[in-house]
Amino acid sequence: YSGRSVPNPFTEKLMSIKVGDVHSLPKVVVDTATAYDAVVTMFTEDVGTLFVVTSEGRLEGVVSRKDLLKVAIGGSDLHKLPIGIVMTRMPNIITTTPEESVFKAAQKLIAHEVDALPVVKPMNEEDGTESWQVVGRLTKTNITRLFVELVQGGGDFHIPGKL
Ligand code: ADP
Repeated sequence: YSGRSVPNPFTEKLMSIKVGDVHSLPKVVVDTATAYDAVVTMFTEDVGTLFVVTSEGRLEGVVSRKDLLKVAIGGSDLHKLPIGIVMTRMPNIITTTPEESVFKAAQKLIAHEVDALPVVKPMNEEDGTESWQVVGRLTKTNITRLFVELVQGGGDFHIPGKL
């Protein structure tokens, strides 16, 4: 954070809250899905961002509402359109980890102008390549909920049940 020498108690409290304390469950589609599958999953799971994973759970990409709207209004046959063509793909995905401060993750949401970050853990690959397993979803809603709970609790944040 901005490096003031004497952080006030609220700031200190905020800085101690980790992504792992507030994130939601990840909602995913597999990389063999079509754009149509992603639209259906977005409705049934009631989320605006889906993560695209391999059958082993490795993060491959992110697909947002507007990614899908774009291809829908472009007139493509969504049933035939592989999700890989629609998604933003690794290594261009902004991620966070359970150990990262919520404040740092919130800065990433703002700086990169996205609504959600996949919460990831490193995955062991046989060939030594770096890859990530998706363990959660950090959204602007999580930050908003935390903000409300912090003020309602007078700064006394308790770890809420995960959604
Ligand atoms: P929407 O496009 O529905 O407004 P976002 O603002 O979250 O939703 O997404 C904007 C663009 O950024 C989309 O193309 C999406 O694929 C991409 N995107 C979303 N989240 C991430 C992320 N965590 N890392 C990289 N790109 C992302």
